[in-house]
Formats: sequence, C-alpha cells, structure tokens
Amino acid sequence: MTKNDISDIIELLAKPKQIVIVPHKNPDGDAIGSSLGLYHYLKQKGHQVHIIAPNDYPEFLKWIPGEDSIIKHDTETNTSEGLIGNADLIFTLDFNALHRTGHMESVLASSEAIKIMIDHHQQPDDYAQYVYSDVNMCSTCEMIYHFIDMLDDVASINTDISTCLYTGIMTDTGSFRFRSTTSTTHRVIANLIDKGAKNAEIHNNVYDTNSYDKLQLLGRALNNLKLVKDFNTAYITLSQEELNRFNFKKGDTEGIVNYALSLQNVVFAVIFIEDKKENIIKISLRSKGSFDVNTFARTHFNGGGHTNASGGRSELDLKNTIDKFISILPLHRNDLNS
Ligand code: 5GP
Ligand code: MN
Repeated sequence: MTKNDISDIIELLAKPKQIVIVPHKNPDGDAIGSSLGLYHYLKQKGHQVHIIAPNDYPEFLKWIPGEDSIIKHDTETNTSEGLIGNADLIFTLDFNALHRTGHMESVLASSEAIKIMIDHHQQPDDYAQYVYSDVNMCSTCEMIYHFIDMLDDVASINTDISTCLYTGIMTDTGSFRFRSTTSTTHRVIANLIDKGAKNAEIHNNVYDTNSYDKLQLLGRALNNLKLVKDFNTAYITLSQEELNRFNFKKGDTEGIVNYALSLQNVVFAVIFIEDKKENIIKISLRSKGSFDVNTFARTHFNGGGHTNASGGRSELDLKNTIDKFISILPLHRNDLNS
C-alpha cells in the first residue's frame, strides 16, 4: 500500500460512507476477528458498516464483541445483496481471490463499490482498487492494526477492537508459536493488551470451551493417524460416518491436523475430511520448514494458502483421495527429506 493509497483512503473515510466488510467462506478466527476489529473502528468513525460473511462460523467464536451483528449471505441473501448494491466501499479481508467467498463471488465481482483488499495469502488476485497484501504477516488481524496505524489513528483502538484483533492473531499463529510470529507481532499484541484485550479470558473463550463430543471426535481422529515414515509425512482421515457419530459441528475439526504435524521428524501433515453434503473431501495441509503446502495444494488439490498452511479439496471419494495423495508423495521425495 503506497503513501498515495493511504492518502486516498484517508480522504475516502473523511465523510460518512456505506461500508461492507467481507471475510472468506467458512470464516476462521482471523477472518472474523479482522472483520469485527475493522467494523468497530469504522463505526466509531461514523460510517454505516455491515459485515457480510458467506456462511456461518464456529461456536468458539460466538462471543467476540459485535459478532451477533454479522449477516450471513447464504441464509440472508436478499439483505446481503441489497447492502452490497448500496455500498460505497467494500473491504475484503483474509482472502486473495473472490472465489474464496463461494456464492458471493458474482455479486462482489459486479459491484461498483471501491474495493480494498487486506490479506496475507500468497498470489493475490487483481480485483481491488487498493491492495494491502503482505504474505509475511502472521494474520490479517495484525494487518488491521498496521492499517489503523498507517491512518495514524492507533489512539482510536479501544477494548472491543483490541479483543477482536487479539483473537485473530492468536488463532492464526497457533497462540504465537508458528514461524510467521515476529517480534512485531508480539509488540502489537502487547499494545492490544494495554488497550484492553483480556488475554487469559480470550484464550479461555476460544480453547477451553470444548464439548465432550468434540474431544471424542479428536480421539477418533488420533486413532486414524497414519505415519508415512519414508516421506516424513503424517495424515488423518475422518469419514462422514465418523463425524455424524460424534455430532460434528462447524469448528470441531479445527486444529486436529496439528497433532499429526507434532510427530517427531514429520514435516508434512494433512487431514482429509469427508463432506457428503458438498460431495467433496475437504483437505487441510500443514508443514514445518521449507516444504511448500501452498504449491502442493494448488498443484494437486485445487486449493492454496500459505507456505506452511493451506487448504484444498478433492472430488474423488475418501479412499481414492488417499490413494492419490500417497501416489504423489514420491514426486516430492527430495523436498520432504531435506
Ligand atoms: P484451513 O486448512 O485452516 O482451512 O486453511 C489453511 C489456510 O489455507 C488458511 O489460511 C486458508 O485461508 C487457506 N485456504 C484454505 N482453503 C483454501 C483454498 O481452497 N484456496 C486457497 N487459496 N486458500 C485456502
Ligand atoms: Mn488469516
């Protein structure tokens, strides 16, 4: 984002605007935290602001200040499209291509509102007039903090904004332990605590509210864990039948893949989750070090993301997806063994 971009945006925000904020489909802590952090900021500045999420998000995020005002496009399509039609400005947060919003893609593509992208995923598409993209950032929430700083307005960050941004930085960094966590991240976090984020309470709200079913499902997943020693790779499967058995709810499988990655010597971990409704296998990929799961997901599984965390999908059934995965590993022998 150039100095000119910033002065344009300061000018745009100088008068009250109709603003829509859009996170990606199946929003995670960073998508919801950044949307709500920016929402509270812009409302405080006197704008009309609406967050329109493509669909619902996990229960463990349903305490963040303002989350009950989020509109869901899949169940409130007319309201959503009316607001997008009337918007002067649309912020798109935590995604790099409009198709990441699922069914919102066409209405966003045809909207004449000025678009501002703030995102940390690789290879951003070129749909926005203003782009703040930085793949070295740990989270979009950290970028919202820097964005407000670029507007020279950190003084306006209040308790609600701090709480939202803290939450997304925490979830996207695995509680400040992934490689993307920098000393700047910690400085931002320290400032957010000073400005009112209750850190212990936030960790508790997100991580210590598990249901019994969720932990039983985790047990099932760990039983299904397979190690492919030759390729320093581990993977987990969950079938639709297993998900049903433990009353799966959105968010229940989040983070499970990290158990596979925690195995000694493993540098590549994947979870394959069957989704009979969408008739796909949803895939989450994680790596340690230089093995690039963004490229792996893009090349083989119609997805993408970051070097060490990406997602994708397969239209084959669970067994054939696993067979395909196993057959691909030898192509990456050198990278997986270096
Ligand atoms: P997760 O495995 O948690 O769903 O996603 C891991 C990371 O990859 C997240 O940053 C997510 O936004 C990104 N991601 C997940 N699925 C896709 C996809 O289909 N395409 C792209 N480009 N990124 C994805
Ligand atoms: Mn993110």
